[in-house]
Amino acid sequence: MIIDCHGHYTTAPKELEAYRQKQIADLKEPSHARAKGTLSISDDQIRESIERAQLKLQRERGTDVTIFSPRAAGMGHHIGDVTTSLHWSQECNDLIHRVCTLFPKSFVGVCQLPQTPGVPPTSCIPELERCVKEYGFIGCNLNPDPSGGYWKDPPLTDKWWYPFYEKLVELDVPAMVHVSMSCNPNFHTTGGHYINGDTTAFMQLITADLFKDFPSLKFIIPHGGGAVPYHWGRYRGIAQDLKKPLLKDHLLNNVFFDTCVYHQPGIDLLFKVIPVDNILFASEMVGAVRGIDPETGSYYDDTKRYVEALKLSPEDRSKVFEGNARRVYSRLKNKIPASR
Ligand SMILES: [Zn+2]
Repeated sequence: MIIDCHGHYTTAPKELEAYRQKQIADLKEPSHARAKGTLSISDDQIRESIERAQLKLQRERGTDVTIFSPRAAGMGHHIGDVTTSLHWSQECNDLIHRVCTLFPKSFVGVCQLPQTPGVPPTSCIPELERCVKEYGFIGCNLNPDPSGGYWKDPPLTDKWWYPFYEKLVELDVPAMVHVSMSCNPNFHTTGGHYINGDTTAFMQLITADLFKDFPSLKFIIPHGGGAVPYHWGRYRGIAQDLKKPLLKDHLLNNVFFDTCVYHQPGIDLLFKVIPVDNILFASEMVGAVRGIDPETGSYYDDTKRYVEALKLSPEDRSKVFEGNARRVYSRLKNKIPASR
């Protein structure tokens, strides 16, 4: 079985974006701003939006299950306030739940959190609990920078985040550390801000001892860990200078990387540097990069090809494609029985 741990519903029916635009417009109209509004999308619309895009590609590429979440760039935590973010997250998560209900063998849900810059993330706990307990979601996307490129909230290792981490541990769900759109014109969203977010989050984790306080907390750093594997020597050296344990003891019981790296040399490097037990297969399709690589004739985001080209042992290959995802997303077993 091949589990893709990183997919977003980027092809949702246009009514979702219309809902969001109305929500944003209503912010200028104080009397409307508190209303949740309505979103009307039929099951047939959802089926069509999935079968013609995500599911079609999964079938063509030979992946079985996608751990599926709302569009990351669309989370837009900087827009409006905590109520805006809650209503928007609920609508997006409800839609993911409907996809997972219509296609229970192909999709398992991960939720968007109703984060807001400057608001303690305890505000996200009810929505996390709703999605995990009522919908059977198996994780969440945690935005380390709800301001969208200005990094106004405390680092991930700050006690600011601790009550939320306590809930993650209690529910036994991991968080993918995933930024949303960039509001800072210096940072292109998927090319600059995303990779910066991944790299910055990892560096924050090095400087503190978060996993001493939360030994069972699990983070997935997407996009191959940003710049981390490439600069592994730098991070090992900084950890050493800071008198931290070896990175494998300091972080690698809790931090995992995905394979959303869109060329063979990048995947080769990822597997050379990061232990195979810490790598989860993912593609982040349909999304960040949609084109075909003229050098290979294949889609950049068809990451299964790169992983297959590594010639891993059958045991390691099975870890990357399935076993590691099952270890990190422990609730996955309730949704998708193991293939063996
Ligand atoms: Zn993503």
